[in-house]
Amino acid sequence: MGLVNIEKCIARDIVLSNKLVPSIYDAVAKVLYSNYLDMIRNKVCPWCGRKFTTRRALYLHLNRKVRNGLKCYIGFQSMVKDIVETVRKAHYMIRVRKHRGKTMYLVRVENPHPKFNSREEAIKYLVVNGYV
Ligand SMILES: [Zn+2]
Repeated sequence: MGLVNIEKCIARDIVLSNKLVPSIYDAVAKVLYSNYLDMIRNKVCPWCGRKFTTRRALYLHLNRKVRNGLKCYIGFQSMVKDIVETVRKAHYMIRVRKHRGKTMYLVRVENPHPKFNSREEAIKYLVVNGYV
């Protein structure tokens, strides 16, 4: 158990920042967990419903491995791990192409490869169709 380095960075970004970096993490998180992100950024714990005065306090709550907060700790950890794992899978399936100054996102499944205008749309396609 416990989070590895990239997961720790993502965990911090989820609670303390408005954007996950690199942007592929942000796209995955928005597709899979947009309701959770909204709650967290409003300083509400999605797992117990408790409202906190600061994001820092919520961050500590989500990382505290105590008996009466275990479901929040475990819920948060599995969310972070799921985001990181989905990015790992999606990363090799999306190619960025520039065409006449426009950036396109090619999903390397099916033939011809579906094209999207944003990374988020490409990720959504992969998730909805069960590729990741
Ligand atoms: Zn909680």
